[in-house]
Amino acid sequence: MGIPAASRRRPSEGAGVVPKVRVVLRLGELGLVATEAVDAGQAILLLDGVLSPTPTRESVQIGPALHVGIPPELPAADRQRRYLWRFLNHSCQPSARVVGDLVVAIDRVEAGGDVTFDYQTTEIELSNPFQCQCGHCGGAWIRGFRHLSAEEQLRRAPWLADHLRRAMPVGEG
Ligand SMILES: [Zn+2]
Repeated sequence: MGIPAASRRRPSEGAGVVPKVRVVLRLGELGLVATEAVDAGQAILLLDGVLSPTPTRESVQIGPALHVGIPPELPAADRQRRYLWRFLNHSCQPSARVVGDLVVAIDRVEAGGDVTFDYQTTEIELSNPFQCQCGHCGGAWIRGFRHLSAEEQLRRAPWLADHLRRAMPVGEG
């Protein structure tokens, strides 16, 4: 309750995190790679932007009914420069996970390594489901955590965002 329809994010301990990524074009898709080696558990970048109780095509869920998105009035060039996290691709074998409003390395990511996360570890329900092209899952439909089988939910347990872990007991989906 009490979350305005759109509000600037509050300051957090992650505010000083310098992004360790850059945007690359690979096989026709924009994505992020690490600009330096990042150890397991270290922050890679901050999910900053506009907070909303409802998801959008680009938003990432960071809390119960709390989604971080990009200010809609922003010119395209500024979106790319300012909100690098918008280029985080989904993978079913991700290199990073979302902890609070930070993107954190799961295992050590080498410089130039892909930075991806599993959208189904933050989103209960995707606003725009899509067929996965991560190369690990054989083209699964990515629709959100609640659509996964109990087995698939359990496999993701170590990387689940806190809000999702609390909102939906693993294995009961
Ligand atoms: Zn996949």
